[in-house]
Amino acid sequence: MALDEFALIGRYFRTAELERAADPSAIALGIGDDAALLQLAADQQLVISTDSLLAGVHFPEQYPPAELGYRALAVAVSDLAAMAATPLAFTLALSLPKVDEPWLQAFSRGLSVAARDFAINLIGGDTTRGPLNLGVSVFGQVPRGQALRRDGARGGDLLCVGGPLGDGAAGLAVVQRRDVPAGLPLVGQDYLQQRFWRPQPQLALGQLLRGVATAGLDVSDGLLADAEHIARASGVALHIDAARLPASEALVSWPERQQLEWMLRGGDDYVLLFTLPPAAKPRIAQWCAAGHAVSVIGSVHAGDGVLLDVGKGYAPLSGERGYQHFRSSDD
Ligand code: ADP
Ligand code: MG
Repeated sequence: MALDEFALIGRYFRTAELERAADPSAIALGIGDDAALLQLAADQQLVISTDSLLAGVHFPEQYPPAELGYRALAVAVSDLAAMAATPLAFTLALSLPKVDEPWLQAFSRGLSVAARDFAINLIGGDTTRGPLNLGVSVFGQVPRGQALRRDGARGGDLLCVGGPLGDGAAGLAVVQRRDVPAGLPLVGQDYLQQRFWRPQPQLALGQLLRGVATAGLDVSDGLLADAEHIARASGVALHIDAARLPASEALVSWPERQQLEWMLRGGDDYVLLFTLPPAAKPRIAQWCAAGHAVSVIGSVHAGDGVLLDVGKGYAPLSGERGYQHFRSSDD
């Protein structure tokens, strides 16, 4: 390698933009030792999540490195939002085929913008030579007992989403220039590409849900697949009314069937899906007034599985629900 491992880390990762993107008071020791040290207050629980990103699976083979840097951190931080946590720090395991300085510079820049946007500091990582592979681990904190888990939904609760559905899949179609409708204005194309490359984890909404929502997660695999996770963990049935699914202005340029398909199964939306007890219903208007696009899309019932109403009454799902890496046919 033209640049040795430590010079590379020093130049692109051990930077002020990444190490001090946010208040560093919880970080007792950052990059440079064998491990980092986090200092949590006594009433806080540590929240940990890891994501891997592979070319051709999690992002297209052709990509702008700065956008990849942003997206890698955004999708990882979305899991903190989904736990109602506040971000503290992250680590980056990077496997690179070669030292490509323009690539590293752009990647580091995109990563730095995301670190600032989500107020999270880089505290360590690992750098090796190999096929391009990114591993991001995020650490956050939540007051003891207030994490938003998947297993608390109860019959009678409302089922809500925190933002528009289908934009992630439509954004990927725009990025890959696949069947983009002629009637979609440039601002709509821009918006959707941003939704794909720069998803916005709903951290503030997640924190508002502490002690209020009964269950929740972030929609990464597709609404139906992720709803199924809540239904299973909570031991309930979720009813989803297709007519109530929120779509962005840009998404409505596609044929209606395509819109519905992406809203139900598209994935990559990174909006929160959560259940609310009936008594919390008045809060929805308050959250919307504060800029969180929360809508009610269904309800929770005794039973199991996800039931969808596309205009002919609630029916159990059949067939593909969303994205899965290991299907039974691959076993
Ligand atoms: P070790 O051999 O003890 O695992 P390394 O030599 O791999 O340590 O790393 C030296 C320091 O640089 C460690 O603090 C590690 O966390 C940090 N580091 C390595 N790669 C990265 C990276 N891509 N981003 C941020 N920090 C990194
Ligand atoms: Mg190492």
